[in-house]
Amino acid sequence: MTDRPVAIVTGASRGIGRAIAIELATLGYNLVVNHFDFTAEGKPNKSNAVQTQKQIKDLGAECEILRGDVSSADDRSHLVDLAKNKFGRCDLLVNNAGVAPSKRMDILEATEESFDRVVGINLKGPYFLTQQVANWMVEQRKQYPNRPFRIVNIGSVSAYASSPSRGEYCISKAGITMMTKLYADRLAEYNIGVFEISPGIIATDMTRAVKGKYDKLIAEGLTPTKRWGQPEDVAKAVGAIAEGRLDFCTGTIINVDGGFHLKRL
Ligand code: NAP
Repeated sequence: MTDRPVAIVTGASRGIGRAIAIELATLGYNLVVNHFDFTAEGKPNKSNAVQTQKQIKDLGAECEILRGDVSSADDRSHLVDLAKNKFGRCDLLVNNAGVAPSKRMDILEATEESFDRVVGINLKGPYFLTQQVANWMVEQRKQYPNRPFRIVNIGSVSAYASSPSRGEYCISKAGITMMTKLYADRLAEYNIGVFEISPGIIATDMTRAVKGKYDKLIAEGLTPTKRWGQPEDVAKAVGAIAEGRLDFCTGTIINVDGGFHLKRL
């Protein structure tokens, strides 16, 4: 059993997840980092996750990495087992892993296969991983009545902004909003806080393919704050939650979007 608090962060090999894991290491957490990638030959590609692990260890934190698909029940269990066996505790779960559709397709033509993939990773995975971790937190609560336990879900402005060329992504993120409410409601009696962070347009691999489009839209005023978001912008919001600054705000959505959510006249 470690004295430091422990966070599980899904999809932390790169992008927003990596920035969150590094922020948490800076705040004194040990980390369990999940990642997914395969090489072209079908072998686990650990290079990005190993880079995250190195950055975390350089900050003096312990960090375990594990390849796994959050949409797979077995892989989710292995992730939780790793945290149990290595650290014996989980104080914070960050459901960050997420994918865009492999190919953007009009909602009138998009496939059921893509729907199942995106919703499986972005919604079913976090929904059931949260169930598993929440039950473990409830158990831990019996032994540690004063220990803070928290869960953070990474949603998106796509939860409410329509993009008919990636409907399955929007549906998955709208589901995250309801999932946050459900778990916040259910877990409040155990004093487990549940939060949603709603990033806007953040510079990562996910948005690389549409960089030109968003460069133009941002320059034209799509967001009141005229710049791309950075992974660290999201990580700082997770940091505020992890530091306990929002402990009476369970169920809240934190918009990290440069004001995208504002309706303007
Ligand atoms: P990213 O750079 O593409 O990184 C995605 C991360 O998720 C990687 O670590 C990847 O692992 C992991 N991952 C993918 N499929 C997985 C699976 N089946 N199981 C476990 N891990 C998996 O994406 P990002 O931009 O950082 O996005 C992170 C989260 O923020 C996502 O939920 C996304 O929807 C949300 N978000 C992003 C933006 C944005 O503008 N970028 C805006 C709003 C919301 P590997 O590296 O091993 O493949």
